[in-house]
Amino acid sequence: APTATSDPFASLNPAQRAAVEHDIGAAAARPLLVVAGAGSGKTNTLAHRVARLIQSGADPQRILLLTFSRRAAGEMTQRAGGVLGRIMGTSAQASLPWAGTFHSIGARLLREYAGRIGLADSFTIHDRGDSEDLMGLVRHEIGLGQTAKRFPLKGTCLSIYSRVVNTRAPLGDVLQSAFPWCGEWEAQLKTLFGAYVDAKQEQNVLDYDDLLLFWAEMAADAELGPELGALFDHVLVDEYQDTNRLQAAIINGMKPDGRGVMVVGDDAQSIYSFRGATVRNILDFPQQFSQPAEVITLDRNYRSTQPILDASNAVIAASVERHAKDLWTDKVSTIKPQLVLIPDEAEQARWVCNRVLEQREAGIKLKSQAVLFRTASHSAALELELVRRNIPFVKFGGLKFLEASHIKDVLAVLRFAQNPGGRMAGFRVAQLIPGIGPATAGRLLDAVGTAAEPALAVQQFEPPARCAGDWRQFADLYRTLREPGLRWPADIELVKNWYLPHLERMHDDAQVRATDVEQLAQLASGYGTRESFLAEITLDPPEATSDRSGPPLLDEDYLILSTIHSSKGQEWKSVHVLNVVDGCIPSDMATGSMEDIEEERRLLYVAMTRAKEHLHLIVPNKFFIKQQAQMGDRHVYAQRTRFVSPAMLKHFEQTVWFNADTARSNKPMPDSVRLLVRERARNAWK
Ligand code: ATP
Ligand code: MG
Repeated sequence: APTATSDPFASLNPAQRAAVEHDIGAAAARPLLVVAGAGSGKTNTLAHRVARLIQSGADPQRILLLTFSRRAAGEMTQRAGGVLGRIMGTSAQASLPWAGTFHSIGARLLREYAGRIGLADSFTIHDRGDSEDLMGLVRHEIGLGQTAKRFPLKGTCLSIYSRVVNTRAPLGDVLQSAFPWCGEWEAQLKTLFGAYVDAKQEQNVLDYDDLLLFWAEMAADAELGPELGALFDHVLVDEYQDTNRLQAAIINGMKPDGRGVMVVGDDAQSIYSFRGATVRNILDFPQQFSQPAEVITLDRNYRSTQPILDASNAVIAASVERHAKDLWTDKVSTIKPQLVLIPDEAEQARWVCNRVLEQREAGIKLKSQAVLFRTASHSAALELELVRRNIPFVKFGGLKFLEASHIKDVLAVLRFAQNPGGRMAGFRVAQLIPGIGPATAGRLLDAVGTAAEPALAVQQFEPPARCAGDWRQFADLYRTLREPGLRWPADIELVKNWYLPHLERMHDDAQVRATDVEQLAQLASGYGTRESFLAEITLDPPEATSDRSGPPLLDEDYLILSTIHSSKGQEWKSVHVLNVVDGCIPSDMATGSMEDIEEERRLLYVAMTRAKEHLHLIVPNKFFIKQQAQMGDRHVYAQRTRFVSPAMLKHFEQTVWFNADTARSNKPMPDSVRLLVRERARNAWK
């Protein structure tokens, strides 16, 4: 048998070690908070703790590990498995059945407890699009659609509703603080939300927020709370700064004494307050249980070189809030982060490509390089240039997989089979059949919704005569899908075969779309059941282009493109941040309140602290801004982000770049660039 090679805990520093060893061997572990800056090894420590717990006899089945994304859960499980392998001297992977996001774990628990809390276990989950559509529909039904012209749009209504649920704040407060322009509609919004909730319950559907809300309500229940808590000996949470009130309530309800609870986070990296997350959770943690929590801080950064750390620390230190953390590192380097001044976004794309290739020449794999940006659409120019130059890349964040109509169609059929009461899915499916419009679809759903045997109701439904043939085919499919014995993923094959002819009829580019459907089917085959597939794909849709196109690419070398939000927790040797200008970071969509601006500063801090050795902040002088509808999109002259103040320039090396074409066109450069060129020319000899 293989033997343990080395002590994986030996590499931990004393503070990390204290967190890993916290109350090991005690009858029960007191609550523990690790609060520490970027790259200080929080996630790493968490993974080691999981391994240590298992080593000391904890049952992996009874460890709840909550992470920010499915990918993060996978990585953490793998890391813990690696450590465990080294301790135990086996290659055995840690199998942690309860590792995942709050939402996906919530979905699983609700499925198991559905009967106990008055839910039918065939419930389906609405994605953001479905939820908006239902909100829109309800709004229309109660008459707010037609009469009130200036009534907030369905998407805004859903955001308000979601804020209220996730922050547990009264509607009036939420309106005042986050949606002041909707304040006059408070009474109507109340009515609307009431009707929206009724509609969800009638149809047996849950939206994202419900997964947390129902879980929190169960956790708060005198009987169910302890029962849920007793499922787990250990509850560990990464990125705790980005959890909201409901999530804190869930932990608190399940573990009122905080036994076995460990959370890690960094208040300087809180970037999800627009979704109701609050750093208060970290601040309140030490006192929220019936016994005080132990708090451990880590101050050594293992990720970045000193110059990168200096620049990042300067950016966050200017924050009006207090992030009492001074990170240090022993990674000396003479390479300062670069501030690259560039004429426009096209040049930015070229510059990044040049630099990326240069670095690859110098031995830094594409995979060890990332390009980060504020919003998914900001990488458009770069993507074109990458394709033109044959540089492979994978993009994370902002993928619109679930928004493609053909993907929605297939999922709707599966959801309608799962939950015949779900009207959004049913409505969509019925209208796939040629000759069936909204009126007929509505009639069908009324019949199916009240039927004891939905498949029979579909069978007996009488559509307009001209679609009888197509209808019969659908009814047959539906009956098969409703049969209890049918094995997954056979369902999706049936749906696919039924759907492809319709696809051809509806779309000119049916072939491209058919490939997507194939990919969806492939993805589906990785899941054990229809429910788990539907829940996972809805909660955590493929978020990278590679998640869609399958494994082959994974062996190759490719550049990483990612929104800053999706880059959380990760690291690369070299990082490029695009559009580091006012109007982008901070976004001009930020309302201008101080809290919003501060969140944008933290966003830049998160981006910068992803870099291990090379960091480039790129400042295009002209920047394309999507304006409000009436003003049209346009290019504007932009300024370097306010978060890099003149006093901080000493932390950067400045590069001014414009290629020959631009120079020849002899466009006047703004003063800032001209002066810099002159300045650099003057200092060149030094
Ligand atoms: P973030 O705030 O960005 O999520 P983090 O605090 O979770 O960062 P990790 O991702 O856990 O930090 O660790 C950052 C890097 O430092 C990783 O490459 C990790 O392997 C390394 N690291 C952490 N602790 C040690 C250690 N004791 N010795 C050597 N390397 C370490
Ligand atoms: Mg981390």
